[in-house]
Amino acid sequence: MAAQRHAEIAGAGFAGLTAAVALRQRGWSVRIHESNREVRALGAGIFIWENGLRILKAIGAYEEVVQGAHEAITYETRRDGSLIAEYTFTVDKGTRMLTMTRQHLYSALLRAAQREGVEIMTNSEVIGATPAGTLKTADGLSFEADLVVGADGVRSKVRDSLGLLQERNVYQDGIVRVLTPRLKRELGPGNWDHVIDFWNMRSRPLRILYVPCNEQDLYLAMMAPVADREATATPLRTHIWIAAFPQLAPVIRRLRVGGRYDAYETTKLIRWSSGKVAIVGDAAHAMTPTLGQGAGTAMMNALALAVALERQPSTNRALQEWEERERPLTELTQDCSAQIANERRLSRWDVDTLRTANHVPTGTEGFGPLVTR
Ligand SMILES: Cc1cc2nc3c(=O)[nH]c(=O)nc-3n(C[C@H](O)[C@H](O)[C@H](O)COP(=O)(O)OP(=O)(O)OC[C@H]3O[C@@H](n4cnc5c(N)ncnc54)[C@H](O)[C@@H]3O)c2cc1C
Repeated sequence: MAAQRHAEIAGAGFAGLTAAVALRQRGWSVRIHESNREVRALGAGIFIWENGLRILKAIGAYEEVVQGAHEAITYETRRDGSLIAEYTFTVDKGTRMLTMTRQHLYSALLRAAQREGVEIMTNSEVIGATPAGTLKTADGLSFEADLVVGADGVRSKVRDSLGLLQERNVYQDGIVRVLTPRLKRELGPGNWDHVIDFWNMRSRPLRILYVPCNEQDLYLAMMAPVADREATATPLRTHIWIAAFPQLAPVIRRLRVGGRYDAYETTKLIRWSSGKVAIVGDAAHAMTPTLGQGAGTAMMNALALAVALERQPSTNRALQEWEERERPLTELTQDCSAQIANERRLSRWDVDTLRTANHVPTGTEGFGPLVTR
């Protein structure tokens, strides 16, 4: 019998947890190092498209995610108070899109990891790794593995310790993300179960993506240019946002949290691996959130990594094959998202922008379309 292979993973985010579960399902022993004192999701809400839902199915988290997520039938785009476009997600087009709180998604992934017996070390800050398969932590410890996974986010220390970063870009816009009560009745007439993309181009470019997450929680992604000191200030200067989006005044007025402004950032690497170390998720390919595919591609590449290592016994070859297979679509998604962000293009859902959502990810070929309504 072949000896059990062992993986050390940096980061218990969406990429790290998915990689951990997928490797455990294939017989690996897995330990995750998380620098935070507790495991939890940061941010407010999230879109998970059909491709991401298929990954959740593969790692046993799908049913739990669907319970308590929201499925908007329609995505509206409104500019300066007028309806510009309406996209309806239909069963025959095959595209599913669920919205939910980040914590909801995270809890389901965490429970899947716990069920699979993944070990998670909190308060364990990774400072780097070697191509030979050693992961090093800030408290002076070294961990040997057959595979090290750098899933430690956009500022990845694993990636940087191996000199893999090729490009980092910061964009003209960014977002404050908040969760707030739905207040459907106070919002007045209209279908407030839709996802609604509000743009204001009159006085200053501002955008609020209105995203129901469940019956109680509403996610607002509030976009403003980096250069707009007033609109990017937190705690939010709500009068600016109410003036631009009077329809949303009841919810904006009730915003209590300070929030945090994050400028859009992207990363590109020279290679996705070095020796026995693979880089996955935002550490490898952070993207602007304009297609809602950062976590989707992170989870796709994490599952595909485990599948590649199952199909190809040589780790080096498996990592090369993994990158050759998965990187083109990820970069297409990244480039498409960046272009939309650069042009401040109003959302348009078509063959190009739904390419990633409609992709059948590696390791999920056996599933039919997932019907959730
Ligand atoms: C405004 C905005 C909106 C977005 N909306 C969507 C969306 O709707 N849909 C979607 O699919 N994606 C979306 N994304 C992208 C998505 O959030 C990311 O792509 C996703 O979180 C990446 O997951 P990850 O696990 O790679 O990284 P992260 O989520 O950053 O997780 C990294 C983990 O590693 C830990 N860590 C960091 N450094 C260390 C260290 N040195 N040692 C140990 N642990 C460490 C962190 O604490 C964290 O737990 C959005 C992003 C932004 C900015």
